Amino acid sequence: MVNKYLPTSLTKALDILATEVVTPYAGGTDLMIKPDENVKYLFLNKVTEMKNIVEDDKYIRIGAACSFTDIIENKLIPSILKEASAEIAAPAIRNLGTVGGNICNGSAKADSALIFFLANCKLRLVSNNSERVIPITEFYLGKKKTCIHSDELLVEILMSKTGLNNYYYKKVGARNALAIARVSFAGVLNVENGKISNCSTAFGAVSDIIIRRADIDVMLVGKTIEEAKIVKEDYFKKYDQAILPIKGRISAEYRKTVCMNLLRDFLESNGI
Ligand SMILES: Cc1cc2nc3c(=O)[nH]c(=O)nc-3n(C[C@H](O)[C@H](O)[C@H](O)COP(=O)(O)OP(=O)(O)OC[C@H]3O[C@@H](n4cnc5c(N)ncnc54)[C@H](O)[C@@H]3O)c2cc1C
Repeated sequence: MVNKYLPTSLTKALDILATEVVTPYAGGTDLMIKPDENVKYLFLNKVTEMKNIVEDDKYIRIGAACSFTDIIENKLIPSILKEASAEIAAPAIRNLGTVGGNICNGSAKADSALIFFLANCKLRLVSNNSERVIPITEFYLGKKKTCIHSDELLVEILMSKTGLNNYYYKKVGARNALAIARVSFAGVLNVENGKISNCSTAFGAVSDIIIRRADIDVMLVGKTIEEAKIVKEDYFKKYDQAILPIKGRISAEYRKTVCMNLLRDFLESNGI
């Protein structure tokens, strides 16, 4: 009995996915925790179309089977994604673990997914008879639940080429290295011609899904730094209502306090 497939092209991988009951296997760093000898695995690490990082006029197109090491070493990748990737586990995991696996495992603790939320990235999902490109916010349906169909692969992540330079990123873990996030936060704020042209934030490891509230962040857009200071407390109030941490090993109160402190620090670091 064949229990693993090693396709070398996307077409072959999608054909197997359409006709067999298989589990996509990228780096295996999540899957290896619960190996199952009855499962047939579809290995993705030889699918060349999923290993590229290229740019077009609008996007950096990141192949879903790129490892965190590939991300860190590629000159097209913005610093914020490199920094978040460099904080993941240890080199052995970074050499195997992929951005596609980080997204598809459906975890709100996923460090690269936080940055993809922040950057309003789009995901290209492909089967052998369909293709769709959706915002990452629509991909997640709940804890460990995503909208990917059983015959689809996440093939690429589309990341905007601009707007991520002035960033703030913090991962709060139990220790400095080799830690899964207790809370993570990323923000970008851009000012053009004296007015805030974009403010984006994302909170990880707090709820079942990464929190990305563009509807709140827009409160600061179009304002000068001085005008932003005036609405700052209303902005905090909105986030205070929006952040409803789940209880776990870490208390909900702790997570909430850390989120609000990081948000405040992010604004203060931008003079607000
Ligand atoms: C010791 C250790 C430390 C870790 N530390 C961190 C950490 O600090 N931060 C962090 O974010 N994560 C961490 N992780 C989790 C893990 O390394 C990451 O989530 C990694 O990105 C998973 O990628 P992978 O390629 O190994 O996924 P895999 O294990 O191969 O797959 C994960 C899931 O995604 C599916 N899948 C993978 N790729 C695709 C695709 N292209 N299309 C459709 N489905 C797909 C698989 O079927 C599976 O359900 C850690 C894991 C370990 C073991």
